[in-house]
Amino acid sequence: MKRILVTGGAGFIGSHLCAKLLECGNKVICLDNLFTGSVENIKPLLGDKNFKFFEHDITEEYQDEVDEIYNLACPASPPHYQYNAIKTLKTSVLGIINMLELAKACKAKILQASTSEVYGDPQIHPQSESYTGNVNPVGPRSCYDEGKRCAETFMREYRRQENIDTKIVRIFNTYGPNMAINDGRVVSNFIIQALRNEDITIYGDGLQTRSFCYIDDLIEGLIKMMESPAIGPINLGNPSERSILDLARLVIKLTSSNSKITYKPLPKDDPMRRQPDIKLAEKELGWRPKTDIEQGLVKTIEYFKERL
Ligand code: NAD
Ligand code: UDP
Repeated sequence: MKRILVTGGAGFIGSHLCAKLLECGNKVICLDNLFTGSVENIKPLLGDKNFKFFEHDITEEYQDEVDEIYNLACPASPPHYQYNAIKTLKTSVLGIINMLELAKACKAKILQASTSEVYGDPQIHPQSESYTGNVNPVGPRSCYDEGKRCAETFMREYRRQENIDTKIVRIFNTYGPNMAINDGRVVSNFIIQALRNEDITIYGDGLQTRSFCYIDDLIEGLIKMMESPAIGPINLGNPSERSILDLARLVIKLTSSNSKITYKPLPKDDPMRRQPDIKLAEKELGWRPKTDIEQGLVKTIEYFKERL
């Protein structure tokens, strides 16, 4: 039985990961400061004797005996990571130092949840891991993008200097149940607006693109990464690319909503196109997402119907 630490375990991705790791017969320790996560997300796990939750901020030191660490703690939605940009930077930078020191102390493997945002507003399409990105160091998204880039550097240097078994995955837009009602990212926003028959808010002209991955597929990729000899960085995402306008129309159709589309200003530095090249994940992990967008949206819509 492995002892596995999941930071950010009460968040959207973290709560699914904790559930899956428990289901596979592990002991799971979840750390979360509940900034964007909630106890509601891990409620079904709290009664399990192999699950422990500690309210803890990863910018503070943490000591334990663990075999593996998944470092997911960090707000991921633009309005949330911009709310206290300095704190976001500290979470990525001090947080990874604390987790790497823990990995060093107990000789644990450590996986860092990095992001497609390390590519910034990409000038190469689709984005493969060799692309070094186009990131503004002083813009509204920099606290997130540069914090995550710096965390990747810490991961690599602890591997080089301290021999820590580090693994970096770059996650592309992922959606599904357990996203917070007030998360602010596009899939949950559109579904909630559609279910309430409110206007669907498109930022800009809606022709910018993203490639959306369903949560179950991502969780499988994260666990495969931890279990494989791969060190990354490796992209994890669904390569099926679509425009935000297209997504809005699909959500309206699947919810049979009366919502109308309205247009709001495009936030500064909002990437225009994003699509993962997942050849490396296919080769090194034998992983590729299975859930198409309609299937994934239907499950997510069901979740939000119950929540609202
Ligand atoms: P989320 O906001 O739902 O989860 C983040 C969790 O981290 C929350 O539970 C939050 O309370 C916790 N947290 C934040 N700061 C913390 C701190 N200082 N100490 C302890 N806990 C803290 O977001 P998510 O979508 O589940 O993202 C999880 C991870 O995956 C993040 O690191 C994010 O950057 C990364 N990621 C997610 C996506 C995506 O599309 N969902 C894409 C790329 C990367
Ligand atoms: N977006 C939108 N309406 C919303 C929320 C987001 O049009 O209510 C757009 C946003 O400007 C971006 C895309 O959808 O172009 C994805 O945004 P999200 O915040 O989900 O993720 P990220 O920009 O970090 O990929």
